Amino acid sequence: MNNKAVMQTYARYPLTLVSGNGCRVQDDRGRTYLDFIAGIAVNTLGYAHPALSKTLCTQAKNMLHCSNFFHIPAQQQLAERLTALSGLDQAFFCNSGAEANEAAIKLARKYFHDQQSPRRNIITATQSFHGRTLNTLTATGQDKVKIGFDPLPPGFAHVPLNDISALAAAINAQTAAVLLEPLQGEGGVNIAHADYLLAVRKLCDQHGILLILYEVQTGIGRCGSMFAFEQANIQPDILTLAKGLGGGVPIGAMLATSAVAVSFGPGTHGSTFGGNPLSCTAALTVLDVIEAEDLLENCRQRSSQLMHGLNTLRATYPLIREVRGAGLLIGAALDAEAAPIIAACRDIGLLILPAGPNVLRFLPPLNVSKQEISEALELLAQALAEHMAEKPNGAAR
Ligand SMILES: *Cc1c(COP(=O)(O)O)cnc(C)c1O
Repeated sequence: MNNKAVMQTYARYPLTLVSGNGCRVQDDRGRTYLDFIAGIAVNTLGYAHPALSKTLCTQAKNMLHCSNFFHIPAQQQLAERLTALSGLDQAFFCNSGAEANEAAIKLARKYFHDQQSPRRNIITATQSFHGRTLNTLTATGQDKVKIGFDPLPPGFAHVPLNDISALAAAINAQTAAVLLEPLQGEGGVNIAHADYLLAVRKLCDQHGILLILYEVQTGIGRCGSMFAFEQANIQPDILTLAKGLGGGVPIGAMLATSAVAVSFGPGTHGSTFGGNPLSCTAALTVLDVIEAEDLLENCRQRSSQLMHGLNTLRATYPLIREVRGAGLLIGAALDAEAAPIIAACRDIGLLILPAGPNVLRFLPPLNVSKQEISEALELLAQALAEHMAEKPNGAAR
């Protein structure tokens, strides 16, 4: 097999994964790996969860797709579940994170258009990641994703995370919304502090502008609560979800308060595949299993175990500068390049991701076991020991 017929948009690891079960995957040479990537926080229930497999088989025999010209009961049920869980009023379904974010930007603008207000601009955080469409890459607070794609759409400004005066200074009469990830997943596992989020909410209320939270990576239990915003005791006006929602089946969602959602009337927005019976029944099953198997509690317990284990390793390996994150979205910031350590882990059977050049990112499925966390910590310790043996003076920054 060769990769030449595929556009070379990804720098792929030299590995072909062919099957999986729970937290483990097999490659095409029969080697087994402990998977702490989970398809980038997508495989909420791990691989081949029996309840999800059953739902998908049943749905395939019944109806995969139905156009949004018709009522779709599973879509209505999923909307009811997600609005009850989030405290928001209505949902729109699409197929990915970027699409959910794109829908949020459109809705915020349309809301102010409908009020004859000039507010159209969006403020986001530096180091954020919001997707690869032209608007969402412009919203993204990292220049590297923008190179070569000009002209970029106007209407976006960036401020540093956790700096409330910078945000206050950036808001003007054209500002429609502040758009944040409660925890920046791609940008280095950077936490938006609860007091900052609370202050952002207040600032938005004072100015009559919208707070949009992008929980594409942090939502659906990833941070130890169904949504990360719950931990800051705030409510967004608009919320986006994707990655973990379908447990591996592509689905995105954009939720909003009814005051805002009215601006998306018939003909304003749409998606051919969005909210089809297959993806919605998959998402309903993911939510059922999170509840039935008490996975939020498991997420929190495994989170403390992993954080504690990483901090213990930090005492032996000072090249681990800081351990941070929430739930099972955990970063270990290094005084070294992350890539060689990630490769060393892969060679001995542990799959992890970077988040930026110097951070190791751990994203196991929410049903990861105590034993699997211990095993991952042992493999990481082994990889670090090998790395230090090769570079006894410590790696350069
Ligand atoms: C992953 C991610 C995206 C992109 O999602 P796609 O499904 O690849 O479009 C957008 N925003 C955030 C916050 C993400 O974590």
